[in-house]
Amino acid sequence: MKPTGPIPAGFESIEGQLAIGGHTAAALVEQAGGTPLFVYSAERIRQRLASLRKALPSRIRVHYAMKANPYPPILELMRGLVEGFDIASAGELQAALAAGQPGHRISFAGPGKRDEELALAIEHGVTLNLESEGEARRALTIAETAGKTPRLAIRVNPDFELRGSGMKMGGGARPFGIDAERVPDLAKTIIGSGAEWRGLHIFTGSQALDAGAIAETQAGVIDLAARLTREIGTPLPHLNMGGGFGIPYFAGDEPLDLGVIGKALEDRLGALPAELAGAELALELGRYLVGEAGVYLTRIVDRKVSRGQTFLVTDGGLHHQLAASGNFGTVVRRNYPVAIASRFSANHEEEASIVGCLCTPLDRLADNAHLPRADVGDLVAVFCAGAYGASASPSAFLGQGAAREILI
Ligand SMILES: *Cc1c(COP(=O)(O)O)cnc(C)c1O
Repeated sequence: MKPTGPIPAGFESIEGQLAIGGHTAAALVEQAGGTPLFVYSAERIRQRLASLRKALPSRIRVHYAMKANPYPPILELMRGLVEGFDIASAGELQAALAAGQPGHRISFAGPGKRDEELALAIEHGVTLNLESEGEARRALTIAETAGKTPRLAIRVNPDFELRGSGMKMGGGARPFGIDAERVPDLAKTIIGSGAEWRGLHIFTGSQALDAGAIAETQAGVIDLAARLTREIGTPLPHLNMGGGFGIPYFAGDEPLDLGVIGKALEDRLGALPAELAGAELALELGRYLVGEAGVYLTRIVDRKVSRGQTFLVTDGGLHHQLAASGNFGTVVRRNYPVAIASRFSANHEEEASIVGCLCTPLDRLADNAHLPRADVGDLVAVFCAGAYGASASPSAFLGQGAAREILI
């Protein structure tokens, strides 16, 4: 038997079934028109933002990294809850604009921005987090041709990384950002060109559950920004301090202790280097805001036994939930939190593996999990499905198509 991850707080049971926001899983499936279905809870997202605001100093702005979940109703909800959106493509820019987010509240990071993407961002007054000197040159040329003043920031590749982070995106040699030691020269060029200087973006990693490590990294980010700003010689208007706040996916994972992060930031802001005195300070968070607010519901279409092992075969799979299958940035496959949604309060009495409908051995949603006895027609819930689910999975694979999504 293998353990499953912890079911996030706030999910209740109605008539023995999993309920989300006061609706049973079966009712939600009926409302949406069938399975597989992602259900996102607006209430859970609002509560997450509220507890975050309570823990963080009021000066800290929160940005939504929309690659975590670009579902349009979620973007519309988020627009009213955060100070900015962080995007990584022109497609995300179009989606952010369509959700009503104005360009001046959007910043655009990501390697390989094409000329058309730079042009669109500049036209809408989006801040570009520049990833290379070459990209800076292209942005300046495009802005000049368009007769626009570009809003430019530099994404810094720091000389350290977020300890214990699931996905490292800073430190050492990276395709992301400009090596810290080369930043002052480029910043001076940008400021000298007459562009609007929008400061620094320092992202050091993702999916960290160790609050101490996050606090330590934030201190390092502030020190680095102060050091670079001294060399640049112009007050820093904005510092995107990155994010990296993780959520518990697996057995033994503990939720992040926000109190530790908030307290450390509070202390730090009390003794902020003079160079940063007037800077806007922002965190960019994706999965922490939406991950635990989403549940993926899929229906069991077959129950079979092979050489003593029970398999519950569902109408969903890795084409919607690549991460739960263990094929998105994990080395060792472990079980996400799962449940039989239609028997949420039933006793766990058998060991079974939940698999998807794709013809590949990679398509597993839970291995040897301890579950209530489930049969054809029952609904399976995979939790922690609010981030990197629908949009980060290969829905075209094997012609299966996209899942339904609803925000309630
Ligand atoms: C992916 C990404 C994020 C969001 O990461 P989460 O783990 O979802 O919070 C934030 N910033 C940058 C630059 C990213 O690439």
